[in-house]
Amino acid sequence: MHAPAHRVAVISDDQVGPLYGREVAERLREAGHDVTVLTFPSGEASKNRTWWAALTDEMLGAGLGRDCAVVGVGGGVTTDLAGFVAATYLRSVPIIQVPTSTLAMIDASVGGKTGVDVPAGKNLVGAFYAPRAVVADTSVLTTLNALHRSEGLVEAVKHGAIRDEAHMISVRRSVPGLLAADAAICADVIARSVRIKAEVVAEDEFEQGLRQILNFGHTIGHALEAAANYRIGHGRAVAYGMVAEARIGEALGITDEGTAARLAEALSPLTERGRLDVDASHARTFLGADKKSRGGRVRFVLLRRIGEVAHEQGWTHEVGEEVARDALNEILHGW
Ligand code: NAD
Repeated sequence: MHAPAHRVAVISDDQVGPLYGREVAERLREAGHDVTVLTFPSGEASKNRTWWAALTDEMLGAGLGRDCAVVGVGGGVTTDLAGFVAATYLRSVPIIQVPTSTLAMIDASVGGKTGVDVPAGKNLVGAFYAPRAVVADTSVLTTLNALHRSEGLVEAVKHGAIRDEAHMISVRRSVPGLLAADAAICADVIARSVRIKAEVVAEDEFEQGLRQILNFGHTIGHALEAAANYRIGHGRAVAYGMVAEARIGEALGITDEGTAARLAEALSPLTERGRLDVDASHARTFLGADKKSRGGRVRFVLLRRIGEVAHEQGWTHEVGEEVARDALNEILHGW
C-alpha cells in the first residue's frame, strides 16, 4: 500500500470526475476505504487559491484527519492543485496521482511540483511535494480531446531537446500513433519521457541546479500564458517559448545554428504556429516576474544543441533585456 489511509479524498475536475474520478472512488470503496469525492470546474482558471481554499475547507468540513490520503485524478491542473492541497492539508497528507491527460502523464504528475497560479503569474505559490505513487493508464487518452492530446506532447519534445536527441526524433516519428491515442505507442513515448524527467529530478529534487533544465521554453512560455490570461494552453505556450529561447541562444552564439528550425519542425504537427493575440508589454511584465530571475534580471535555460543544455557557467544564463524583448516580440508573430 503506497499510502496507508483510512479515508481518501478523490479530487477531479468536472470533466474527468464523471469519466474516471467516480470509477476510481468506486474501486477504493470496494477496497474498504471511506471515500469523499471533490470536484472543481475544469480549466486553468480553477488552479488558484480560491479552489485550493474551497477544497481544503470541504475536506475539513467532511472531517478528514491526518490519517487521510488524497488521490488526484485528472490533467495537469488537477495534479498541480490536488498536489498542493495534499502538501498543505493538516501540514501534509500523502498523495497518489492518477494523471489522465498526455501532459499530466508525461510531465505534471511526476517530480512533485505542486501549486496554483496567482495574479502576479503562473505557479508562483506552491510546494515541492512528491507523490507516493503515480498510476497512469494510457487507454484513458482516447477520451481526451485532440488539442490536449497533441499539445501535451510538446513536453515530450522538450525532454528530447534538453537530454536525448533520439527521443525527440522518436516522438516526431510517432506523432500519427500518438495523435490516434494508440495505447502502446503512447505508453512507450510517455515512459521514455518520464524516465528522462525522473533522472533529472532524482539528481536535484529542489531545483538548485540541474532540474532548472526542465524549464527550457518555460520562461517565455509562462509569460505568454499569463499575458493571454490562460486562453493559450500550456503546451502551445511552451512550444512558442522553446522556439524563442532557441533563437535567443543562437543570437548569443551559444546554441548551434539551425536548432530553432529543428525544434519548429518537431513541434509543428503538435500545435498551431501562427500569430498570438497577446499584448507584448503585458507579456514583458510577466517575464520580469519569472521565478528564475535573480536580482531583477531574467535568466534562461539555453541549449547547446538538440539533446544538450549549455552549462559552462551554470544551468541558466542571464540574457540582456533587449535580446529577451526582441525574441518575445518576434515570437508573438508566430514561428
Ligand atoms: P488540464 O488539467 O486542464 O486538462 C485539459 C482538459 O482535458 C481539461 O478540460 C480536463 O478536464 C480534460 N481531460 C483530462 N484528461 C481527460 C481525459 N482522459 N478524457 C477527457 N478529458 C480529459 O490541462 P493539462 O494540459 O493536462 O495540464 C496543464 C497544467 O499542467 C498547467 O497548469 C501546467 O502548469 C501544469 N504542469 C505542471 C507541471 C509540473 O511539473 N507540476 C509540468 C507541466 C505542466
